[in-house]
Amino acid sequence: MQHWFPLLAAILVSLACSYRRVALRTWSALTAVAIVAAGVLAESHWLATSITFLVFALVAVPLNLTDFRRKRLSAPLLAIYQKITPQLSPTEKIALEAGTVGFEGELFSGKPNWNQLLRQPEPVLSADERAFLDGPVEELCRMINDWEITHELADLPPPVWEFLKKNKFFGMIIPREYGGLQFSALAHSVVLQKLASISTTVGSTVAVPNSLGPAELLLHYGTKEQKDYYLPRLADGREIPCFALTGPYAGSDATSIPDYGVVCKGEWNGANVLGVRLTFDKRYITLAPIATVVGLAFRMYDPEKLLGDVEDLGITLALLPRDTKGLEIGRRHMPLNIPFQNGPVRGKDVFVPLSQLIGGPEMAGEGWRMLVECLSVGRAISLPSNATGAARIGSIATGAYARIRKQFGMAIGRFEGVEEALARIGGYTYAISALSRATAAAVDRGEKPSVPSAIAKYHATELGREIAKDVMDVHGGKGVILGPRNYAGRAWQGAPIAITVEGANILTRSMMIFGQGAIRCHPFVLKEMQATQLADYRERLQAFDKALFGHIGFAISNAVRSFVLGLTHAKIGSAPGDKYTRRFYRKLNRYAAALALTADTSMLVLGGKLKFKEKISARLGDVLSNLYIASAMLKRYEDQGRPVADQPMLAWAFHDSVWRMQMALDGVLRNFPVRPVAWLLRALIFPLGRREVPPSDRLGRRVAAILCTPNETRDRLAGDVYLTPNANNPIGRMNALLADVIAAEPVERKFLKAVKTLAVKAYDYNGQLAEVEAAGAITSEERKLLERVRTATFEFISVDDFDPRDLEAAVKHGKTVLRSVA
Ligand SMILES: Cc1cc2nc3c(=O)[nH]c(=O)nc-3n(C[C@H](O)[C@H](O)[C@H](O)COP(=O)(O)OP(=O)(O)OC[C@H]3O[C@@H](n4cnc5c(N)ncnc54)[C@H](O)[C@@H]3O)c2cc1C
Repeated sequence: MQHWFPLLAAILVSLACSYRRVALRTWSALTAVAIVAAGVLAESHWLATSITFLVFALVAVPLNLTDFRRKRLSAPLLAIYQKITPQLSPTEKIALEAGTVGFEGELFSGKPNWNQLLRQPEPVLSADERAFLDGPVEELCRMINDWEITHELADLPPPVWEFLKKNKFFGMIIPREYGGLQFSALAHSVVLQKLASISTTVGSTVAVPNSLGPAELLLHYGTKEQKDYYLPRLADGREIPCFALTGPYAGSDATSIPDYGVVCKGEWNGANVLGVRLTFDKRYITLAPIATVVGLAFRMYDPEKLLGDVEDLGITLALLPRDTKGLEIGRRHMPLNIPFQNGPVRGKDVFVPLSQLIGGPEMAGEGWRMLVECLSVGRAISLPSNATGAARIGSIATGAYARIRKQFGMAIGRFEGVEEALARIGGYTYAISALSRATAAAVDRGEKPSVPSAIAKYHATELGREIAKDVMDVHGGKGVILGPRNYAGRAWQGAPIAITVEGANILTRSMMIFGQGAIRCHPFVLKEMQATQLADYRERLQAFDKALFGHIGFAISNAVRSFVLGLTHAKIGSAPGDKYTRRFYRKLNRYAAALALTADTSMLVLGGKLKFKEKISARLGDVLSNLYIASAMLKRYEDQGRPVADQPMLAWAFHDSVWRMQMALDGVLRNFPVRPVAWLLRALIFPLGRREVPPSDRLGRRVAAILCTPNETRDRLAGDVYLTPNANNPIGRMNALLADVIAAEPVERKFLKAVKTLAVKAYDYNGQLAEVEAAGAITSEERKLLERVRTATFEFISVDDFDPRDLEAAVKHGKTVLRSVA
């Protein structure tokens, strides 16, 4: 038996080295020592020790002789790699080169360095930003009547437009030197969350000029003249921008726009100048109907070679003032009863001079790169913030309503079925608010988070839609009947808008999250690809060899880590956190290793075909996304001082995330086209089977209870949403009533019991109260409390009704309001 000890020692040391990811030379030295030591100490036969050593040396020596390794191993592999690796299209190249890699790279490494996350400073608002939130934003919220906006005006009322412009809501991303507010991404996000909590329409209206559009593009690429002219005017709302990319033939596939501009001479302000003659048909353009300046994407052609030798210059961006001759603008689309300004923009042979190209003539043809480089910052903020604001207010409103609304003699929030919905609302809200905060913080650190912004866009809006569904279900008929009293219906109606815009969700999940993440965040894939592009063969081979052998070590380590952490159900290994959260970090270590292993294997086995295996790619993206979301939740918990009261929320959302990771990996393995590879991966990732379970009912009950009672966790979950109990804010008023409702509950129980035991004769509530009081079962103070609460709660369980003519838009205006384009 002892003759096997050297071999056993070699295997154990190799596994330990792979798990710890030690360098090749260290592994070689440690293994050599282990073989000899085991042979001597266990008194193995010299032949057994020698054979083990020889086999080990045959592997280790060539790997450690760098020149030999490069010539004999890396060179042929480089030739194969160059043959089988698909060429990236220019569009894909631009997408990959835009953006930076932050903590998500650690998750992809299979062995996250948690210090990198935990050392990041806590994102906080500056004094100016806080003052803006508590001043103009609060004031604006007070002015908003969402029913008036969505039903009566189908627009913001003029005083709201004025207030927005005067207080520079459209200039949050514009630097102070140009008259803007120059807010941090965090402040920008918190402002949008608060606005979205009172009106989706206002939230969207403010989000758009602060997202990807003329201001952002001018800041990065504008000429001095363009910046000096437009930025101050955009900051104070003298100019209202829109950005027009999408058209009938180019939606998700935006690079295929058929809109074109031909370089020619033409008239501009009375002079004959060089410019482009544009023909375009755009639709779905937010703010277009009222825009004073249109950012336009088109393909630029120079058939007469007036600018140089190139005829097809590529996608180019221009600014068209509203009064440009031939520009058709002003009609409106109606996006799902959320009437922010949105409509088509068209033009035929519209002439603008080259000075109207964003960045001037030098930037002709650079449009796609400009858009992709700027996309991630806006995408990380606008839609995730709007979804988070709606989710936060949805949690508060539904928790309060579930406590106020009684059926079968009980608050509906106490029924297990409702509790289940409340737990999802609370847990998902906790998750997406952490996600929004993490991506805003990444932008504030100067990152261009292309992968996290896709994660945030997809998951905040998808979970937001789930929350909106549960909010509706818990409200029953109260959610369905529209009117000034309904605070849930519009968010539900509008949920699909957020799903569709800024990269429709199916595409974002299927192609972008993992597609970009795999190459951008992987520690070696991009390096390998870049190595193959080097012109000098020696340099190419050297760089490829380094990346390749790093990659091989990385893959072996991930296989070992997946197996060991799977076998121990992630109960071992160093991890940060406290007694409560350490196990959470360990779980993430396990799934990070499993993701890295599966991703590598998928890329190796499926190669270029992986791009078209969208279902595999989407599930791998789900694992990456949930790793990112769970890390964001842990970071938030740490930043907030590890509040014990928040633990049920954190635990619910965390277990849900981990369960999703497991199911996504299981989906990959079940459907992986090469079955023996899938079996091997399953053995490494799930050696004891799938053991993660969704959050328990008990945990869900604790989350639901948090939503239905005033407490600090609930306040943290609400964040800065608009909860002032004003006439225009039913949720604020209902929330303010919650303490009284809770105080009345024991009295109500006493009263209901007395009604039965005293055989009360009155049929009506007030009569019954009087009888019960007269019998001494409740005091006069208690009776007053019950009366007060009943009167106050009636308002919140009531719905609206209308004169039929109030609902007939066509009759009211004497015509059909919205005519479809024939
Ligand atoms: C209210 C609203 C406001 C908007 N504002 C603007 C604006 O201001 N400026 C602007 O330029 N655009 C704007 N858009 C356009 C928006 O960005 C596009 O709607 C979006 O890009 C999707 O295009 P599409 O609607 O034509 O869908 P399509 O491209 O037709 O897609 C339909 C479905 O197919 C899926 N799909 C497409 N390709 C793939 C693929 N390869 N893999 C998997 N799934 C795929 C999509 O995810 C989607 O689910 C707005 C749209 C709306 C609805």
